[in-house]
Amino acid sequence: AKDVSLALFDRLESEVRSYVRSFPVLFDRGVGTTLTAADGQEYLDFFGGAGALNYGHNNPAFKQALLDYIERDGIVHSLDLATTAKKGFIEAFERYILKPRGLTYKLQFTGPTGANAVEAALKLARQVTGRSNIVSFTGSYHGVSAGSLAATGNKDMRAAAGFPLAHVTSLPYEGYLGESFDTIDYLEKLLADPSSGFDTPAAVILEAVQGEGGINPASVEWLRRLRELTSRHGIVLILDDIQAGVGRTGKFFSFEPSGIVPDIVTLSKSLSAYGTPMALVLIKPDLDVWKPAAHTGTFRGNNLAFVTARAALETYWSDSKFEDEIARKSEILATELASIAADHQGLGLSVRGRGLMYGLVSPKDHSLPARVSKEAFARRLVLETAGSYGEVLKFMPALTIAEADLRRGLSIIRDCVRTVQD
Ligand code: PMP
Repeated sequence: AKDVSLALFDRLESEVRSYVRSFPVLFDRGVGTTLTAADGQEYLDFFGGAGALNYGHNNPAFKQALLDYIERDGIVHSLDLATTAKKGFIEAFERYILKPRGLTYKLQFTGPTGANAVEAALKLARQVTGRSNIVSFTGSYHGVSAGSLAATGNKDMRAAAGFPLAHVTSLPYEGYLGESFDTIDYLEKLLADPSSGFDTPAAVILEAVQGEGGINPASVEWLRRLRELTSRHGIVLILDDIQAGVGRTGKFFSFEPSGIVPDIVTLSKSLSAYGTPMALVLIKPDLDVWKPAAHTGTFRGNNLAFVTARAALETYWSDSKFEDEIARKSEILATELASIAADHQGLGLSVRGRGLMYGLVSPKDHSLPARVSKEAFARRLVLETAGSYGEVLKFMPALTIAEADLRRGLSIIRDCVRTVQD
């Protein structure tokens, strides 16, 4: 019989460092939104690699591109050498993403994870402005490296640093204190008032839809006002689109509906499209002050990721069909979640999100989402929780999910909510 034991993980890995605790199964294969465990059981994936698997597992078009590239001994590691794979990606990114949206950015590839991109963005903003303070928001998540962690609004994660983190002012995200508190007015006042003691920041960094913070979408109006304020004060606006970008909220960039143009955009996770790490910083040309070797890193720009990223752009972003497809599925997801919430008035559940990034929020009973997630896993559906208290059940299925699978997963959730509240 196959060895499907998890004892090795218990022995050599700390429990808290892995997902094994929440999802105690040995996974082996993944195709689209189907995960197959070593024991042959199939699971439906609504977790989507926390935004890293927007096109599902082993998307056939990308797999073929990768196999062809490896078959012809395409360069795998190149550091800063120009390669055909890198050129192919940059051309496709410009053609399918930047040009149609009227965006002009320089591209800085960074170390392979999202935190590396955030780190680069913060560092550049500080160098350009000569200031050190950064404004970030409650509920934000930007990474676990020293700089990105400083901008992350989670007390427990910050404590893990074990040393004072860099100069960051945390302000309430839109809605954090209800409708009556206006963060942007507050920021304006802090900047104007000499007695506030507030250091004009180098940058404001935010997610247009907070992911780990519990699926909190900022309004178009809020984003526009923040853009206006930061422009007026010469503050760099950094939009962290690592989780909400690459189509997750229905458009390639999460900020598109607002029409704002951030000074810096960070991308990672699904950019590579295949689960292979790659991160990128988009920089407005006038902020591109770095000299050669000012920002380096051995694994900047992964050639295998360039190949799959380019395949993704060509397959899904050459016209608006994919956005229409996401909109259709978003409608199904939002409607079904609203109906589940309505069926359980007593629980006071609410629904928020955009595109295929949704949260079912349980403000009264913060442990409900974890119980639903556990029950769902028993029925072979994988999904995570989010939010300060774990009060949000997080829906991040692949954007390419079949409608039938989306409905099937939601019907499992409907049953699970009923089961756990009984
Ligand atoms: N920014 C956002 C918005 C994220 O969601 C994440 C990861 N969850 C990061 C940055 C950090 O990315 P990574 O884990 O790849 O370092």
